[in-house]
Formats: sequence, C-alpha cells, structure tokens
Amino acid sequence: MQLIWLRSDLRVHDNTALSAAMELGPTLAVYMISPGQWLSHDDAACKVDFWLRNLVELEKALAALKVPLLIVHADTWKHAPKALLDVCRQHGIEQVHVNDEYGVNETARDRNVEAELDKHGIGFRRYLDQLFFQPGSVLTKSGNYFKVFTQFRKVCYGRLHYSMPALVRLPKAQQPVSVKSDEIPTHVKGFATPPDALRKRWPAGEDEARKRLEQFTDEQVHYYQDERDFPAKPGTSQLSAYLAAGVVSPRQCLHAALRSNNGEFESGNTGSVTWINELIWREFYKHVLVGFPRVSRHRAFRPETEALNWRQAPKDLEAWQQGRTGLPIVDAAMRQLLETGWMHNRLRMVVAMFLTKNLLIDWREGERFFMQHLIDGDLAANNGGWQWSSSTGTDSSPYFRIFNAISQSERFDPDGRFIKTWIPELAELNKRDIHNPASLGGLFGVEGYPAPIVDLKSSRERALQAFKSLPHRQAETQDHE
Ligand code: FAD
Repeated sequence: MQLIWLRSDLRVHDNTALSAAMELGPTLAVYMISPGQWLSHDDAACKVDFWLRNLVELEKALAALKVPLLIVHADTWKHAPKALLDVCRQHGIEQVHVNDEYGVNETARDRNVEAELDKHGIGFRRYLDQLFFQPGSVLTKSGNYFKVFTQFRKVCYGRLHYSMPALVRLPKAQQPVSVKSDEIPTHVKGFATPPDALRKRWPAGEDEARKRLEQFTDEQVHYYQDERDFPAKPGTSQLSAYLAAGVVSPRQCLHAALRSNNGEFESGNTGSVTWINELIWREFYKHVLVGFPRVSRHRAFRPETEALNWRQAPKDLEAWQQGRTGLPIVDAAMRQLLETGWMHNRLRMVVAMFLTKNLLIDWREGERFFMQHLIDGDLAANNGGWQWSSSTGTDSSPYFRIFNAISQSERFDPDGRFIKTWIPELAELNKRDIHNPASLGGLFGVEGYPAPIVDLKSSRERALQAFKSLPHRQAETQDHE
C-alpha cells in the first residue's frame, strides 16, 4: 500500500506525489493536523479554516479516485515521525510520497520522518511540485543562489524555453480499498472560525480555483499590466490563497497564462508576460528561503540592518494594525486585510513601507501581523515582501526610496473608491480631499476619523537618518551576483 501525505498540495489535478503513488499501487491519503506548530508559525485562523474547507472538497475528489483520506493529529512536528509511523503500521504502508515543502522547520520535519520510517523499512519519496525548479538548481555561474531577481528570472526563462514543466495527468480511479475516510474537523483548537462574509469570499475547492484561473486568464490577464496596481479594480487574479494551499498548481497557472498568450511567455501580450513574472517572483522567494535559511528564522537578509534602531512604539503599532493611523490609504488597506484575509499587492507595499519607514517599527512586527491575518500567508513571499519594503532584504527597495502614502493614494486610488469602500466615515469627501483629510483643517476634520499619527515628511527624514547611520550601508554591500 502507498501513502500520499498531503500538505500544501490540496488538489488531485496536477499533483505529482499523488500520481506517482497511485502509479505504484493502491493508495491512501493522509493529512496532519498540527495546531501547536501552526500557532508557532503564526498561521492565520482564516487560513487554517481555508485548509479545512479545502480538505472537505479534496476528500470528495479523492473519493472519486477511490482514495480514502485519513486525518492524523500531531500537535507539533516533533510528533510527526511517530504519528506517521503509526498510520503506516496500521495500514501496511510500503512507501510515503510527499511533494516538497520549503523552510527550515518543514525540511527538518521531513528529514526526521524519513529517518524514522527508514528504521522500519518504509520508503519516503519526495517530489518537486510547488515550484518550477528545484531550489539549488537555478544558480549563478559561480554556483551561488541568486540575490537579484532580474538575473534569476533570466535563467528561469532560459530553462522554460528549453523545457516547459508538464502537467501531471489525473490518475484513474483505483479499485476500492477497505479503509474508510476520516471525518474532517470543522475547526481546530486555537483557531477561531472566521465570519461567513470572509469565508464566502474564498470558496474552497479545485473547481473554484480553476474557475478563477480561467476567468482571469480569459478576461483579465490582458489588462493586468495596466490594472494590477489599482486596488479598486479587480485587476489581479486573487489566486494567492489557492496557490499557497496548493488548491491550484503553479504549472496550471503557467499553462493557462501561456494559452491566453499564444504560447509565448516573454513576448506577446504584456499582461500575460507580467503575470508570469509574478509567478517567477514567487519562485524566487522560495529559492531565497532555501539558499539563505536565516530568512526562515526571521533574520534580516542583510545582516547589517539588524543594527537598525527600530522604535518601540506599541501605540503606533496598534493604530497601524487596527487601521487607525489617520492615513486613509493605509487604514483602508489594513481594514481590507482584517475583513477579508487578503490585501492588494500595491497596498501591501504601501502599508509595509509606512510601518517600517514612517513609523520606523521593526519589519518583523508587520511580517507577524500579516501572517496572523492573511489567508494566503506564505513564509517565503511574506518575508520577501516585508524585507523588500523595509530595505533589509535581497534585491530590496533602496532605503532612500520611501513611498509617500498620500501620493501613492492619489496615484493608485485616484477617485478614492477603494478608500470609500473600507472607510465609510470618509464617504462624503471629494476625490481630492479623501487622500488627506487632515488637510481640511480642524473645522472640517472628519468626525470619527483620527488625525494622522505621524508627519510623513519628518518621519521620512528620521528613517533616512536611521538607515544612514548603519555601520555598513546598503550601497556599499550591494552584491550583484
Ligand atoms: P496576482 O497579481 O494575480 O499574482 C499571481 C500570483 O503570483 C499570486 O497569487 C502569488 O502567488 C504570486 N505573486 C504575486 N506577486 C508576488 C510577489 N511579490 N512575491 C511572491 N509571489 C507573488 N504573497 C503571498 O502569496 N503570500 C504572502 O504571505 C505574501 N505577503 C506579502 C507581504 C508583503 C509585504 C508584500 C509586499 C507582498 C506579499 N505577497 C504575498 C505578494 C503579493 O502581494 C501577493 O501574492 C498578491 O497580492 C496576491 O494577490 P493575487 O493572487 O491577486 O496576485
């Protein structure tokens, strides 16, 4: 008997490990519930709920293949080897199949499970599935991991030209096996069930993911280049939660984007090309995670920035977290996050810069808060995004290029439509005043909406000074390999 251990690959289509297991013979599937581990990773309650809801759909899809889905409990991954061994012994498993996950804890977990199973003569087979390229296989000429995205991308494109990752065929249903599926828990201790409104925004299951992907690549991707930065428009795919949980695969995304662009990925429609670029960014940050494990441990990619004199300002941090900074675009974005579990990419950059530059608060505070609330929370992308915004990361924004929250708002939400959606207190303001209600002065101040907690100009200067006073400045340590 074969066992597929499902983790962040909650789908039956284009699932490398599932197909490989079923090819070898009768197969069972298992999913591990690890609340202690998830809490220590700051996984959001809405994300855990999304996993559970997807498991319900996956169980049905697996049932059509006659593959039962078992649930095991191991509070932390320290208990994973024993928990899996027990399943293997109970069902006479010869080999366990997994799609690789990245990050130091995930890697250690798999190593320990493999060693334990090995002691009992049970095989452990790992597959590349979450990425186009195995981390460690896209390297500089001198054999190092890339630190600069454009150079990484160039090599990726060269490889993709040469050999496009193929989709894995859906296995045929197997003969029924005499094992019953377990019940999927409706919630996990320590993770509150999110409100229905949030759940409805993110329906579970492969059909939903496929629908989103098709709709996006048929109708929207052509405008992606022009509309992706405008949060009031449905300009992006909103597939990140599905990609992070593996309800859709990056290969499926790539193939769909190519279909919409006559098979071209560097030329043709600029929207498709730009979107494929984002998939490569996703790839890049996962490679960075493996190549530079310190980022997996919440250390700055640029060690010299560890000496930054971050402010301890709990009240400011709280105002940022709750969307009460008095800067409408920041507050609207944070309220979007709190209500939907998702935030538009442009705004992730805006609020991250605001926290780390204007408020000069440690990026790790923002990283953690995002992780605790994002339905698409992903260590590599989240860490990459935060370290990019705070100028502590690889190929990050230079420390002197600080977004001005008001100009960003005027540029990317020109009519204030996004702001009005999330801050009804400001609904009456015209499209000029809405970006900066404080400019109306006391008399016209908007009732119920706070004054800005920080002056953008002087706080910008403060951030520049803090970065300039670092022992080795970025410009001097920039490594273009
Ligand atoms: P689309 O624009 O449709 O892009 C398609 C897919 O490409 C996304 O679903 C995502 O998987 C990938 N992608 C897009 N942009 C990036 C990027 N910059 N880095 C890595 N992958 C990317 N993305 C996450 O998936 N999880 C996170 O936890 C996360 N945290 C972030 C934190 C910060 C501070 C910043 C600046 C960015 C973060 N991102 C994260 C990247 C990006 O904001 C989201 O992937 C994107 O907003 C998701 O929306 P979408 O699916 O509509 O994206």
